[in-house]
Amino acid sequence: MTQKCNVAVVGFGGMGGHHVDHLMEMDSFKVVGIHDIRKSQEELARTKDLHVYPELENVLEDEAVDVVLIATPNQIHKEIAVKAMRAGKNVICEKPATMNSKEMEEIIKVEKETGQLFVVNQNRRWDEDYLVIKKLYDEKAIGDIFNVECRVHGSRGIPGDWRQEKEYGGGMLLDWGVHLVDRVLLMFNEKVHDVHCTFNHVRNHEVDDGFKLTLTFESGKTAFLEVGTYNYINLPLWYVNGTEGSAVIHDWSMKGEVVHLETHEQKDAKPITAGAGLTKTMAPRYDDGTVKHLPLPRIDSDISDFYLNVKDTINGNTEVLVKNEEVLRVMRLLEAAFESDAKGQVVAFEKKVSVK
Ligand code: NAD
Repeated sequence: MTQKCNVAVVGFGGMGGHHVDHLMEMDSFKVVGIHDIRKSQEELARTKDLHVYPELENVLEDEAVDVVLIATPNQIHKEIAVKAMRAGKNVICEKPATMNSKEMEEIIKVEKETGQLFVVNQNRRWDEDYLVIKKLYDEKAIGDIFNVECRVHGSRGIPGDWRQEKEYGGGMLLDWGVHLVDRVLLMFNEKVHDVHCTFNHVRNHEVDDGFKLTLTFESGKTAFLEVGTYNYINLPLWYVNGTEGSAVIHDWSMKGEVVHLETHEQKDAKPITAGAGLTKTMAPRYDDGTVKHLPLPRIDSDISDFYLNVKDTINGNTEVLVKNEEVLRVMRLLEAAFESDAKGQVVAFEKKVSVK
């Protein structure tokens, strides 16, 4: 590779354009051109002085291209990735890498055969909100976190494009679920005992326009992941419970807080009136300093590190950060989630042991 890593982007729509903008800002990369099947996107590329490859074959024949970055709809990722690797190109592929785990297995096989790099853009591993929750988890800042809830809510339904159709790999589980599952699997770093998923079909009957997915890990810890596209009031992005506190992140602006339990000793609760009844269990804590309200920690994170890792891996200087076995595991888990929704039951996943 020359000093710069030369990237050709295949699929110059929303995300393809985003990659181009980002790569053009980075000294280590050069965007050598784009290929898109739509004339409108070719025109758009020309207005940005980008070279347009009329056919995919022209990209693959171009010796200057080090990396093919695939940002097309999902159903065609595998075909393009396999062609690119067989033509001696490295590949960055958008998520979900494939439509199912079988396709991902095929890609891994071709990657091994050709010796090229295939890496998936799991960019949301670099989201600050996730990294803050992971830090609380890793550092046991609120004790042992036993429940993590992550919700992504919007109210516009599925955008009116290929995401509404099954044959293109549409639906919210493949679209957002792939990020949310990827991240909690990394965070918990243990086997998933079972999976339960229910889909929403508020307006779309072909694919899910929302889902609720619960993963129960081997230790009994749980992750609840939810995506909704008809939510006119959003619930917090993250809500987590530890043995010594709770934390909340409301949205991507990083509003939220950590509440830390200072002592397990407290005065006995007095019952309170709650609705039409009385409760002692849910009586609030007295303001006696048993808990402390803390600001969220903040983390500097830069998605440029993803691209730089790809370049360094190709040059043999480091290990790839987003590993294909991790991507394959996520695809298998999503399949278990589809099965769970279809059967209306909990599906065993990695280990058939009894949950503690
Ligand atoms: P989009 O519809 O905006 O763009 C897709 C583009 O691909 C279109 O311009 C279309 O003409 C082109 N295309 C379709 N088939 C093609 C082919 N065979 N060859 C070349 N071009 C082709 O969609 P999008 O929102 O940009 O999504 C593209 C991919 O990026 C999807 O896999 C999606 O899941 C992913 N994505 C990832 C993120 C993220 O944060 N990682 C965000 C959005 C989208």
